[in-house]
Amino acid sequence: MRLILLGPPGAGKGTQALRLVGKYGIVQLSTGDMLRAAVRTGTPVGRQTQEIMARGGLVPDNVVVGIVGQRIDEPDARKGFILDGFPRTVPQAAALDRLLETKGLGLDGVIELRVDEDALMRRIESRVAEMKARGETLREDDSPEVLHNRLRAYREQTAPLIAYYRQKGLLRTVNGMAPIADVTAAIDKLLPADRPLGGSAAGKKKSEELSP
Ligand code: AMP
Repeated sequence: MRLILLGPPGAGKGTQALRLVGKYGIVQLSTGDMLRAAVRTGTPVGRQTQEIMARGGLVPDNVVVGIVGQRIDEPDARKGFILDGFPRTVPQAAALDRLLETKGLGLDGVIELRVDEDALMRRIESRVAEMKARGETLREDDSPEVLHNRLRAYREQTAPLIAYYRQKGLLRTVNGMAPIADVTAAIDKLLPADRPLGGSAAGKKKSEELSP
């Protein structure tokens, strides 16, 4: 099973990805996590991307495509993976298509978590406030200004992927504003244990919109 979770920051991609990991025994590949690890350990990629990430911009396509290309070759990704935070631009999606094609692999589906931006902003602000109250360490890019930049990057550069994958017949949309368990249930309905969504990367099915 090879899936993409699509949605703006704070839509709950990470939470749902973890549930899918448990259900299908596949790995979660979060480019955000990989880049943060690179920053923490001070690799050349980390040094190149730290400042861009801190202000909520997107790091160059070739950097993330390189990271993902290496990661999906690792043994634990052989059974399948769920991409969380990648692709984020149309060129990244095209590069992923080429990458999978050279390996004779396809995508099983793209799940869009659709959320209302204003409600999302309030949700993120209250999550940040709760974390602060508990004395937890916040991500550097969780400040309101940076969040605005991240949302803008999503709107301008990532949202076009919705049409990209709809056109390929791979897109399925769920209501990301529903309670977490309901979102999981809606995704479950889209992913029967033994049948992929689109059949293949070139799947011909029309996209469907499902509310939990
Ligand atoms: P995330 O944890 O997915 O919200 O990612 C955190 C930050 O990492 C983003 O705001 C970007 O700066 C960077 N990033 C993560 N994934 C990508 C990607 N696929 N393309 C470009 N930048 C990315």
